[in-house]
Amino acid sequence: MTVETLNTTTLNMDPVFGQLSFDNHEQIVFCNDKDTGLKAIIGIHNTVLGPALGGTRMWQYKNEWEALNDVLRLSRGMTFKSAVTGLNLGGGKAVIIGDAKTQKTPDLMKRFGEFVHSLSGKYITAEDVGMETSDMDLVRDVTPYVTGISESRGGAGNPSPITAYGVFMGMKAAAKFKYGSDVLEDKKVLVQGIGHVGESLVEHLSNEGAKVFIADINKERLNEVANKYGARIHTGDVYSADMDIYAPCALGATVNDATIHALKADIVAGAANNQLADENKHGSILQEKGIVYAPDFLINAGGIINVYAELEGYDKTEIMRKTEDIYNTTLEILEHAKNNGVTTHESALKVAQDRIDTRKKENQG
Ligand code: NAD
Repeated sequence: MTVETLNTTTLNMDPVFGQLSFDNHEQIVFCNDKDTGLKAIIGIHNTVLGPALGGTRMWQYKNEWEALNDVLRLSRGMTFKSAVTGLNLGGGKAVIIGDAKTQKTPDLMKRFGEFVHSLSGKYITAEDVGMETSDMDLVRDVTPYVTGISESRGGAGNPSPITAYGVFMGMKAAAKFKYGSDVLEDKKVLVQGIGHVGESLVEHLSNEGAKVFIADINKERLNEVANKYGARIHTGDVYSADMDIYAPCALGATVNDATIHALKADIVAGAANNQLADENKHGSILQEKGIVYAPDFLINAGGIINVYAELEGYDKTEIMRKTEDIYNTTLEILEHAKNNGVTTHESALKVAQDRIDTRKKENQG
């Protein structure tokens, strides 16, 4: 773009620190490699608690602004996810601009790995949308600062069942808070999205005797999961359905202006990231409606607990213990929100921020 074609708005906007999603990020690294066609951005939001860990997403962004906005938003989210979960990790994320199906090559992944390596461990990468374990193995060829590698190379394996277990724990804690009992037997739970995490959640719920309803855009999956666990296929609108618990396990932002007023559930607890289209506005409306929202970044932290094990070298038992602890943390956060008249989302953010602030003081002292 030449200076002549920049419009006044663009010229008046600070390109990085002036972005809407900029929230005092420590470092933003733009990576370019002509030979492999790599164009990537690494966002390091905060490293007070430890190295910034977060996945790499490869996506065909409409433009660079969209990619920058995504990496700023996602890396900030990782800071709070790790902090509230009690992990000694900071928040980071990376995006690679391009189509993962047609533009991802082994050379491009290795070049990306070299950029990660150049940060000397300040950022540790992992899988996200558009990435496979085999891609992380390629990154591992050039840097140790990567998690989510194959089990044969020392990786912790598929995180989805662990994520689902954490969501199940968070859901039970929300039930304890709402109903005085965490038993989900006979509760009507609608799981939206029965992919890797959703299916495993359906299994836990079915074992507990919940009345499980499933919704997905993939009809084959619906039949498969319904037959396997005896779940009922939900037809029609998800949001106005008669249910006790709504578990969003597909896309983000499903709690939004168009859906929130129809929602009849007592509890929202699922795996999807960024479930509230507007954290403050929709968090408040849920609270006003008496719907208990178990913050997504807290209850879906099983995946990061799993990759953290690769760094700390702890075993499956410890992974499950830490994931089970999501129950206690969720309950504490829901109680804190009630006692302080804030939303559950705000309460989770505060716990995370307090942990960061305390560590910062200790580090300075
Ligand atoms: P996945 O791709 O395996 O499954 C997603 C499912 O949602 C698919 O079956 C898809 O058909 C369905 N879906 C897509 N759009 C839909 C729609 N409009 N309505 C109904 N169903 C729809 O993904 P996953 O790994 O199971 O992750 C699910 C969610 O949890 C994602 O938002 C992801 O970011 C989040 N998450 C996953 C993990 C993990 O360990 N996999 C960790 C943290 C957060």
